[in-house]
Amino acid sequence: MLTKNSQLPRRAKCCALKEEPFVPGSEYVSSLTPEGERSDYCVHCWKEVEKEGFYWKGKIPHRKVEPLTHDEKALTYFRSIYGEKEKQKALFILAQYLERKRQLVKLTDAKNPHMLFYELPESGELFSVEPQAIAPEEAEDIGGEIVDNLAHG
Ligand SMILES: [Zn+2]
Repeated sequence: MLTKNSQLPRRAKCCALKEEPFVPGSEYVSSLTPEGERSDYCVHCWKEVEKEGFYWKGKIPHRKVEPLTHDEKALTYFRSIYGEKEKQKALFILAQYLERKRQLVKLTDAKNPHMLFYELPESGELFSVEPQAIAPEEAEDIGGEIVDNLAHG
């Protein structure tokens, strides 16, 4: 069973069906069973396999050499607070922001509403985020804290 503390599997180096390598620019579809078993396919092979569990689509980005953008800073901050108990609310807000900005891909068909899963397409890492109830005045504080961290990060 996939739980908050499960070791989440990374994307494989190649397609599970015909072993086409995943390289920058590759599009892929990954699936995760409720038991936490992950399979990654190229989009072509995905059409041929049986679908089960969560699945999501992604594209491996080409590496950039320009200075960090605001979204990349947000992603760096997200990673730095991932796993910190007292930062769960900021993590939840950042995950939603990064999903809107297409930095993170949310897994579809979540049967477990108490946990959200996101993938970082660039590295194939998975992150679990617990949904948080956040009061409006609290959201303002947390938002301010995030902005501060991005400005100085
Ligand atoms: Zn394939």
